[in-house]
Amino acid sequence: MSDSTFRDTIPTVDDKGRRVWMYPRKPPTGKRAAKNAPNFFALRTYVSWVLLVILFAGPFIKINGRPLLMMNILERKFSIFGVMFWPQDFPIFALAMIAGFVALVLFTAVFGRIWCGWICPQTVLMEMVFRKIEYAVEGDAAQQKALNAKPWDQEKMTKKGIKHGIFFLMSFVISNLLLGYIIGGDALIELVTSPPTQHAGGFFALLLFTFMFYALFARFREQACTFVCPYGRFQSVLLDENSLVVAYDHKRGEKRARKLRGETWEERLGLGKGDCVDCGLCVVVCPTGIDIRNGTQMECVNCCNCIDACNSVMEKVKRPAGLIRHASQDNIEKGERFKITPRIKAYCALLGVLLTVLVALMATRQHVNMDLLRMRGSMYQVQPDGRIGNTFEASFLNKTGAELEGPLTLISPKGELVYRDQRLILPPEETTQILLVVLLDPEDITGRETSMDIGLKVKGRIMDHVKTSFMAPESAARRR
Ligand code: SF4
Ligand code: SF4
Repeated sequence: MSDSTFRDTIPTVDDKGRRVWMYPRKPPTGKRAAKNAPNFFALRTYVSWVLLVILFAGPFIKINGRPLLMMNILERKFSIFGVMFWPQDFPIFALAMIAGFVALVLFTAVFGRIWCGWICPQTVLMEMVFRKIEYAVEGDAAQQKALNAKPWDQEKMTKKGIKHGIFFLMSFVISNLLLGYIIGGDALIELVTSPPTQHAGGFFALLLFTFMFYALFARFREQACTFVCPYGRFQSVLLDENSLVVAYDHKRGEKRARKLRGETWEERLGLGKGDCVDCGLCVVVCPTGIDIRNGTQMECVNCCNCIDACNSVMEKVKRPAGLIRHASQDNIEKGERFKITPRIKAYCALLGVLLTVLVALMATRQHVNMDLLRMRGSMYQVQPDGRIGNTFEASFLNKTGAELEGPLTLISPKGELVYRDQRLILPPEETTQILLVVLLDPEDITGRETSMDIGLKVKGRIMDHVKTSFMAPESAARRR
């Protein structure tokens, strides 16, 4: 533990700066797995099935007729759990993001980097889809190494062709899925069922994303977690001695030493040797190539492969499971159980406040947004009947899924509103723009600028209102 030179290098890059290709061995499952401990790889496989179903069905699942999740940046429409958000809802959206970030910080402080190994789409797709395809086509780590080392004969070309063909196809499916999360499931189906010539730009973008995903899963792989993902780098400040992480019990494991033939555990322990038989299995199954016996490291994605591997070894050598397990540093060093620390309490309090404000904002969220802009280049018009007119461009965003109809009403001062057909219909989830003329009698004008309040009434209730100024000529202002 005192030798920290491992922190000066990363396992995926050699001392000349070249990429070291990772060949993680399949973690033990089924008959190879320990019988006296849970098999995390099998559990992760079940969890990933559920997540993959949600991920692939996401753009097509609807709640109240709206997508479960849609981030339509192009049309500036966002749907989260069937609730539509618009650019006007940015404060709510920003607050939700901050609350999400605090929740992630809290989750990490308690459970470590569990998100990375169990939920992150990059890990789920890499380890549970692409890696498994690779194992199925090329075999386990040793066979993959042998295949890569041999010349390009028919077997190598066939296996590489099949693997990369499937990888490319999967990448194409994933890039369609990404598009589905942007434009929505219905628009995606329409796009997919029409010839590419009708949307050449979109098709080109799809191919571009396909190559990007292919490069990510076929070549870049674990480097996305170790070089690119900021969350992994945040880890060192988010974790503390109380956080649950995948940890090696060095007190029990050290001094590590190979188990000699015929050596009993009593003899071994008597010689100061620990439970770690230095088999290296925990290292060869690690997708990021680290040795967890060196302690918590930034590259660890909490996939638990090393736990499964070590448990299977412990069972074979007849020692208790859990030499590598989910544990905090305090648990290993001092035998302490998990504590709710002041830091965790502070995160909980902050999250509670943020969620309360968020719920309050959601509950009072306006269903319609109204904006008024004075028509460019126009100040006022004097009407033949002596009244003064001001012209505005009015825009309304109907955030609801239903058509709304309502009159515009001049809340103050007294006057008349004139707009197309004197009827305002707002289609669902659309912006409507109209020209609006406000007419005031000179006696209701209080100066060059008169405060004015205009509202939109739907079913007898003011849905939104805008306060602005009514401009009048100096003569009208002086007359008062
Ligand atoms: S150290 Fe263990 S948990 Fe961490 S990435 Fe490697 S195998 Fe997974
Ligand atoms: S798998 Fe367990 S016994 Fe083998 S080297 Fe790793 S920690 Fe030691």
